[in-house]
Amino acid sequence: MPNSKSPSRALLPRAADPARPVLVTGGAGFIGSHLVETLLAAGHAVHVVDDLSTGKLAHLAAVARHPRLRITVASIAEPQVAEAACATAGMVFHLAGAVGVQRLASEPLHVMQRNLRASDVLLAAAAAHRCPVLLASSSEVYGDGPVPFRESESLRPGSTEGLRGGYACAKAMAEWLALGHQQATGTPVLVARLFNTVGPRQVADHGMVLPRFLRQALAGAPITVYGDGAQTRCFAHVADVVQALVGLAQASGLEHTVFNVGSRVETAVGELAELVRAQSGSRSPIVRVPYAQVFPHGFVDPPRRVPCLDRLRAALGREPARPLAQIVAELLSEARNRAAEPAAEPAAEPATVRAAACD
Ligand code: UDP
Repeated sequence: MPNSKSPSRALLPRAADPARPVLVTGGAGFIGSHLVETLLAAGHAVHVVDDLSTGKLAHLAAVARHPRLRITVASIAEPQVAEAACATAGMVFHLAGAVGVQRLASEPLHVMQRNLRASDVLLAAAAAHRCPVLLASSSEVYGDGPVPFRESESLRPGSTEGLRGGYACAKAMAEWLALGHQQATGTPVLVARLFNTVGPRQVADHGMVLPRFLRQALAGAPITVYGDGAQTRCFAHVADVVQALVGLAQASGLEHTVFNVGSRVETAVGELAELVRAQSGSRSPIVRVPYAQVFPHGFVDPPRRVPCLDRLRAALGREPARPLAQIVAELLSEARNRAAEPAAEPAAEPATVRAAACD
């Protein structure tokens, strides 16, 4: 079994080193782009590697011309890309991966293979250069186990005949690989199991219940609650999640290697639909959609997903706790502002991206 002894020194020094950028794989994604902005604001140099399969350069529009940002449009699953990026990096936040329940349900093989391969290649390259890694894992690894989910528990990703467990196992396997490299080479590693994260720039295309409900409410379309709506999730604001990731990377002398990161406030999906409708003033009907109409046979929707955050709180002295009503209000006001803006000219491609794309 890999030794999961946590690194005694911080993965990310507080004093930025311009010669050793922080590598963010998946940095053009929803969480990644917020992390990139935070790291730049803290003075770090940042290297984004993203193949734009789910991320968008538009997510980085606010910092695209930042002098300390470099963007490489390429897949981190390509060994030469991972090797070159890790050779210069001071540390890696590995966020790249295919996500979204709808994608997972419709192309499980592709999602498993992509995630596993990207993690395998990146982690090997990082270990070869002794480059510390904060690995973004997922609450999916807990499957439908009893709540609250504790990091020390055995995982329950489910049967191989089910469709969802493959994604969970690919995530769990990435954790094992990261910890295996740590044991074999001494490369410092932390694992953050991310729970439901919401906020600006999250798209509704591949599942993601909150942006879907907001879009439906604002369009006056039916708000689609799957199943009976009694299933629960805990929603954390992306800014609080990013703050926790950076906090973990900057912490030294941590007692543990694996951390749940999210909110512990549990909300039923049916309640979320009511909240969105009430706060938006929408007259959309809330409709119940049987699982069989949206998911293939054998796809399990975890009935409850709640993290135990004791480790996170012990490490950082805080945890994501922004009230959901406040998050919904922020997203509604942002969506309304966007809708009120005149149609923008397509933005010119940032110079950093054009240059970096030739890497
Ligand atoms: N969900 C829903 N209506 C939608 C999309 C999702 O009721 O239009 C439910 C989904 O079945 C799950 C929860 O919302 O119980 C969260 O789904 P999401 O896709 O955001 O992520 P998950 O937590 O399942 O990974």
